[in-house]
Amino acid sequence: MKKPELILPAGNYEKLIYAIAYGADAVYAGIPETSLRAKYNGFDVGLLKEAVDYCHRHQKKIYITTNVYAREDDIPRLSRHLAEIAESKPDAFIVSDPGIFRVVSSLKLHIPVHLSTQANTTNSESVKFWIDRGIQRIILARELGFSEIARIRNRVPDAELEIFVHGALCISYSGRCLLSSYLTGRDANRGNCAGACRWRYFVVEESRRNDFFEIQEDTHGTYIFNSKDLCLIDMVPRLKKIDIDGYKVEGRTKNTFYLALVAMSYRAVMDVEFDGTSSSILPHVSTLIKMPDNHGFTHRFMFNDGYVMQSYGDSDTRHQEVAGFIRELEGDMLRVEVKNPISVGDSVLGISPREIQPLIVKEIQLNGRYIQTAYGAQKHVVRVRVNRKLSDTGWEYGILAKSTKVE
Ligand code: SF4
Repeated sequence: MKKPELILPAGNYEKLIYAIAYGADAVYAGIPETSLRAKYNGFDVGLLKEAVDYCHRHQKKIYITTNVYAREDDIPRLSRHLAEIAESKPDAFIVSDPGIFRVVSSLKLHIPVHLSTQANTTNSESVKFWIDRGIQRIILARELGFSEIARIRNRVPDAELEIFVHGALCISYSGRCLLSSYLTGRDANRGNCAGACRWRYFVVEESRRNDFFEIQEDTHGTYIFNSKDLCLIDMVPRLKKIDIDGYKVEGRTKNTFYLALVAMSYRAVMDVEFDGTSSSILPHVSTLIKMPDNHGFTHRFMFNDGYVMQSYGDSDTRHQEVAGFIRELEGDMLRVEVKNPISVGDSVLGISPREIQPLIVKEIQLNGRYIQTAYGAQKHVVRVRVNRKLSDTGWEYGILAKSTKVE
């Protein structure tokens, strides 16, 4: 039985560092011009090359997303960027456009190429087609079910296959949506989706254009295009029956808190399932996975087991807040970069790649003065004393989450 790589998104350098610290085997990242995250993307070519070095120094892999559907004017710039990035020897380029694949091949960069989920590979004949042309790994379409993937695996036993296990889903066919283009002019297939499926829609009758009628689906109403997020963490025991090379998590625009907790949760479950190791994190996984922003979870399309896919209620994603990022443990005090207000007496959760501790804030010091509350808006970096002694390691990547308890 193969143990898949756990592959996390890295929208910027800090997210990449956290993804790796919390258990990713590999990350995927790209520059705005070539990847499907034109907005909120913290990389340029130089930083991406540094990111490749960082991953390799930590014995992790990095896959470079070049999965836009390019227009004619994109090609010369793309060729230049690809050649430059290739100098740092990333572990693969991820492409969806056959034209870009041709460019990568003709440049003779000697870097493996993975086929993006945006290329919508849904059967074993397509897998063979792409492998015959030199693609090393196929990231299967997110719309496939478990039994279909099992049949594909049986028919192409030697192919490298990757699947998505977690993150936001399109309500349309992945990579085949024009909602954002029509409504805003922002092209989802060039990394610029406005998330138009999450908006609130009404019915308007032709002759009464100022009357907006709610589209009532049920007691929650209205959000008819709003998909729940994929979450297969409880299905890893079933998924492992199929040999898969990579489990991928969506979300290059998601925050560091999301990356850390999702990476940590899947890491724990995968290590227990595939290696038979024990994990102190495992009992908390069902709580941890829900803490970062999400739209509610679904197994679909992977398992058509009655889970509703749309989230009719609203598109609010706010769940648990980060109080701050722990930069180091200094004696018995934590040095914390504050993101949201923390007060003396607050119950918080101390999360490091190795442990989770329910804590109470006993003291806060700012520049040597004791204060009652520290504020993220004022960019406070404070020293926080908590109610128990913490172990010595791992806190340089720690997170304080606002929480009352771990179930
Ligand atoms: S508008 Fe929604 S369904 Fe369309 S590409 Fe964007 S996220 Fe996907």
